[in-house]
Amino acid sequence: MPDVIYVDHHATTPCDPRVVERMLPYFTEHFGNAASITHAHGRKASMAVEDARISIARFFGVLPPEITFTAGATESNSLALNLLQPGQHFITSPLEHKSILAPAERLAKLGVEVTYLTPDREGRIHPETLRAALRPETRLVSIEAANGEIGTVQAIAELGAICREHGVLFHTDATQAAGKVPLDLTNIDLASFSAHKLYGPKGIGALFVRRGVRVPPLIVGGGQERGLRSGTVNVPGVIGFAAALGLGAEEMGEEAPRLAELRDRLRDGLLEAIPGVSVNGPREVRLPGNLNLSFERIEAESLILGMKRFSLSSGSACSSGEKGPSRALKAIGVSDERAMGSIRIGLGRSNTAEHVELLIADLNRAVRRLREITPI
Ligand code: PMP
Repeated sequence: MPDVIYVDHHATTPCDPRVVERMLPYFTEHFGNAASITHAHGRKASMAVEDARISIARFFGVLPPEITFTAGATESNSLALNLLQPGQHFITSPLEHKSILAPAERLAKLGVEVTYLTPDREGRIHPETLRAALRPETRLVSIEAANGEIGTVQAIAELGAICREHGVLFHTDATQAAGKVPLDLTNIDLASFSAHKLYGPKGIGALFVRRGVRVPPLIVGGGQERGLRSGTVNVPGVIGFAAALGLGAEEMGEEAPRLAELRDRLRDGLLEAIPGVSVNGPREVRLPGNLNLSFERIEAESLILGMKRFSLSSGSACSSGEKGPSRALKAIGVSDERAMGSIRIGLGRSNTAEHVELLIADLNRAVRRLREITPI
């Protein structure tokens, strides 16, 4: 699909060829099982995994044993929430990914009390809102570091500090933030990551668990990952994850402002060219490549189908099977009608200024055509 331009980088990102290159030897000559440390093949794999763990930990400013490899952020989120027990209180928000909301619903059925904090109209969870919801039996708070649909970046350091003050654990789903915006884990007890959102491979992620925090495993068996996550470690995946983070760290200083500039040009160009367009989510502090827009008198599904030259979506890939308006947009008070006419654009490493101009032109054409055939 050489002519189709990808602008859905919140759903997933292409694996960077430099990352693939680093992974390749670990499929073939260095194929050892990282737990087979009685022989050279196993030790080679084990050493590579531990080196990767060290570089990932260093990137986030945490200790290597605090990083546990998982199959991705869905698993990391489930594992983090597994520390909750019936009778305890859990606080989260309606803006979270399904991999937080679905386990939360299941835990509620098992007797965990769940509170959903109300965000403001830009998706921010205010420190006072969190403070007011804390109770003596609150055990865990989970608020994502950044939202992949509306782009809100949360003040997790501040939210984490409030939890620490009250002896409550704080988890953040950092899937959309890691490698894109600076992350300060100082006041964070648990954090979830996924490599395929930051130009690494799919099927590998991690859970950061601060030393001293006890989480019961979800998957038991051979006792890998210090017993927290049994199963043969995905060695090429781990290597790729570390390589992707390394590149992200090197390039974030240039890439984040570049994407923010492209995103702002896209927003301004669309607002200028098309009447009846509004921006959802924060105007200023948002993920660099993220834009969420509503088009009056437009059904997002028809618009996306008409945009043959671009791969784009109306929202989270994991919720795109859901019928009805986006949960995230509803949570920030966007009307159902406006939400049904919304698209989410995720610009990334491969996108250029030329792509942005093409996107403005194609959206302008597609919106005008749809409005012509739709009775008012
Ligand atoms: N959390 C967030 C915020 C996400 O965007 C995603 C991916 N859509 C996930 C969790 C799930 O990650 P994974 O695909 O690694 O399971």
